[in-house]
Amino acid sequence: MTIASFDYVIVGAGSAGCVLANRLSADGRHTVLLLEAGPPDTYPWIHIPIGYAKTMFNPKVNWCFYTVPDPGMNGRSIYWPRGKTLGGSSSINGLISIRGQRQDYDRWAAAGNTGWSYADVLPYFRRLEHAPFGDPVFHGTNGPLWCSPIGRGHELIEAIIAGAGELGIPRNDDFNGADQEGAGYYHLSTKRGWRCSTATAYLRPARCRANLRVETRARATRLVFDGKRADGVIYRHRGEELTARARREILLCAGALQSPQLLQLSGVGAPSLLHRFGIPVVHELRGVGENLQDHLQARVIFACTRPITTNDDLRSWWRMMKMGMEYVLTRGGPMAIGINQGGIFARAAAGAALPDVQFHVATLSSDMAGSPTHPFSGFTMSICQLRPESRGSVRIQSVDPLEPPALQPNYLSTTNDRAMLIAGIRLARRLAATRALAPYVKAEYRPGPDRLHRATMTFSSSRKTPAERFSTRAEPARWATSDAIPWPWSTASSRFTECRRCVWSTAASCPRWSQAIPTSLWS
Ligand SMILES: Cc1cc2nc3c(=O)[nH]c(=O)nc-3n(C[C@H](O)[C@H](O)[C@H](O)COP(=O)(O)OP(=O)(O)OC[C@H]3O[C@@H](n4cnc5c(N)ncnc54)[C@H](O)[C@@H]3O)c2cc1C
Repeated sequence: MTIASFDYVIVGAGSAGCVLANRLSADGRHTVLLLEAGPPDTYPWIHIPIGYAKTMFNPKVNWCFYTVPDPGMNGRSIYWPRGKTLGGSSSINGLISIRGQRQDYDRWAAAGNTGWSYADVLPYFRRLEHAPFGDPVFHGTNGPLWCSPIGRGHELIEAIIAGAGELGIPRNDDFNGADQEGAGYYHLSTKRGWRCSTATAYLRPARCRANLRVETRARATRLVFDGKRADGVIYRHRGEELTARARREILLCAGALQSPQLLQLSGVGAPSLLHRFGIPVVHELRGVGENLQDHLQARVIFACTRPITTNDDLRSWWRMMKMGMEYVLTRGGPMAIGINQGGIFARAAAGAALPDVQFHVATLSSDMAGSPTHPFSGFTMSICQLRPESRGSVRIQSVDPLEPPALQPNYLSTTNDRAMLIAGIRLARRLAATRALAPYVKAEYRPGPDRLHRATMTFSSSRKTPAERFSTRAEPARWATSDAIPWPWSTASSRFTECRRCVWSTAASCPRWSQAIPTSLWS
């Protein structure tokens, strides 16, 4: 059944989709339909920063994907959370407001991607941001997405910053400023202590517009083509199968995993894959679902000598009450922070010209991000290589659109990726041994000296030991060169949209999109 025609149909109300819904409906000249598979973002823990732990494994607002068994992980399937609600992953993410490095954007431009140099993207970062601090050359003050500094310092993070200084890593109070290298506090996507997702920043102000229709629990299952031009979306809503027609454009914003799935289900992809499932080829595009990238993250956990960690706060009723009161009265304190508050961008490889590893430092520890904290004082340094070389894929494994695709990250499949992870862990251990930080370190709890050779800092034979303890931070991305994806149908192909991470996460709003990061944990 065709419900109606719209000028634009947007699939997925996540980071990218909410921004596009706002911008495309702003002048009132065009009608816009926004389809979101998940429910409205009414779950209260979405909006309270510490609620990260409550959404991490919650299937109501999280797709809770798993990768296929990965040889680089000793055959383990790795948990990949993705947001499933208005705001998408920006409603469940770690709230860290961070950009790429200037040189990375310039490298993209130099590779032929016109419009993606740092000078090109900076105006968009400034436009999206409400960050009334720092150098105005790099920050905007009138954008809808609030970016807030962490209100007060933490003894442990200060020790880490001082320890980093001993290793020659400078203090950096603004990773999104002139230079990303250094150690400091992250800025958070929060507004007066509440999560500032793209749903609250962009969609909420636009919801009252007569030309914007938002459907939640509306799952797109296929695109409809007129020849090679996509002009409709079939979706399921309240038990019915409906078709929405698009007069101008369809914008696929279902994220790095589900946008390619939808294309493949609709006959756009590698013929060999489509034939396997009996799907007629509408357009041959071998790049769809290929070149999947993810940032694997190693979580190095230390037992702390002092009861100053969030683990300690959460073990004491009194301290929890205090935390709760502080949040209620001031919208501050630990509840106003996600999980990671300290960050480091450093050069771990010998001779590196740019920071090549990123640390997320949490004043707590747990077996997995979002799982219950340990019954001892602990803190975590999560380390990821910034430019991983391993490449994987997203491929349908069924014609049923409700079946998740096969996610194959191929973690640690290059020598350099393995070496970089070791270099990052080695850096964490050097940091833990500094004069400033050592008094806080009781012991390395994970991976522990038996897990990764302290002396040689190498993986044991066959990489088995450490790899069985990695998992992901769940920020996968795909990279496709413009000639690999010519986008024959109407999309927002060359439009540069604003969103958190901007070029990193606008998914299908641009054919040359890429995104990165992720993490993993010692589980
Ligand atoms: C746990 C976690 C922590 C993270 N931490 C950070 C962080 O601290 N800082 C940072 O910058 N980034 C972080 N990220 C990454 C960042 O949130 C994502 O890169 C970004 O939100 C991706 O935006 P997107 O628009 O591509 O996809 P999403 O925001 O994931 O949006 C996709 C939307 O499409 C919907 N959808 C999917 N399939 C369909 C369908 N068939 N029909 C209709 N709707 C559909 C989904 O439900 C979802 O709402 C994190 C991500 C996760 C999951």
